Amino acid sequence: METVHLVYVLLFGMVVGSFLNVVAWRVPRGESIIRPGSRCTSCGKAIRWYDNIPVISWFILQGRCRNCGARFSIRYALVELLTGLLFAGIFLKFGITWLFFTNTVFISLLICVVLTDIDHWIILDSVSLGGIAVGLAFSMAPGGVGLLPSLLTASVAFLIFFLIRIVSKLILKRRPGYTIAPEGHEDETDEFQGGMGWGDIKLVGMIGAFLGPSSAAMAFFIAFLTGSLTGIAAIIAGRSRRLPIPFGPFLALGAAVAVFAGQAMWQFYLTVGSNL
Ligand SMILES: [Zn+2]
Repeated sequence: METVHLVYVLLFGMVVGSFLNVVAWRVPRGESIIRPGSRCTSCGKAIRWYDNIPVISWFILQGRCRNCGARFSIRYALVELLTGLLFAGIFLKFGITWLFFTNTVFISLLICVVLTDIDHWIILDSVSLGGIAVGLAFSMAPGGVGLLPSLLTASVAFLIFFLIRIVSKLILKRRPGYTIAPEGHEDETDEFQGGMGWGDIKLVGMIGAFLGPSSAAMAFFIAFLTGSLTGIAAIIAGRSRRLPIPFGPFLALGAAVAVFAGQAMWQFYLTVGSNL
């Protein structure tokens, strides 16, 4: 019986992933996420329901539009698969409880963050600020982190990252134009001056609201660790130090790891700390 449920949750996650692809493509372009239905972005022809089955259709059509043959990135199928697998993992960890709903919503918001931050250097306010509201609401559900810890973690995280932004701006002020804004964002060079973007600051508020203090701390630790390692690796590989790297995906990665292992890592940290 458990296996049947697991398959349902996996399929449900893949459908949600398909929807997240649509949101990440359309919302930054100012399009409606409801109408029209899915269309080929190349020829504009409506995609029939049987060509729009998550993951499977991509492989049947070998990543091409049935009408014009335009290529669809495998990323769409991978996002659908990843969402499905994460939903299945959340089901295995929490069963069908309030925490299942909390964490599937949280993971969906995080996937949206990754997609829009990679493609457009933006984190949608509807995701981050909307996510803070949803995280606060879910904190009151059975098994949740509780409203006060949720609110405090969101506020403290927001303030700490805001301070990081101010400090890094002060440091970089002495080296004007040090960081190069990415293509299409030349008029917002200020937002890319090395430190935290506003989107990141609102995002950590959302992560704090959903995770509460201990798991959020682990999420931010993982984000800084993986972010700086990636930055160092990119520079070694020849990337200019002046080109920014979006931080949202690292925060999302840290938060996703914390959903599954945040409490365990926190316990480990406390145990090791008390034995030193
Ligand atoms: Zn087409």
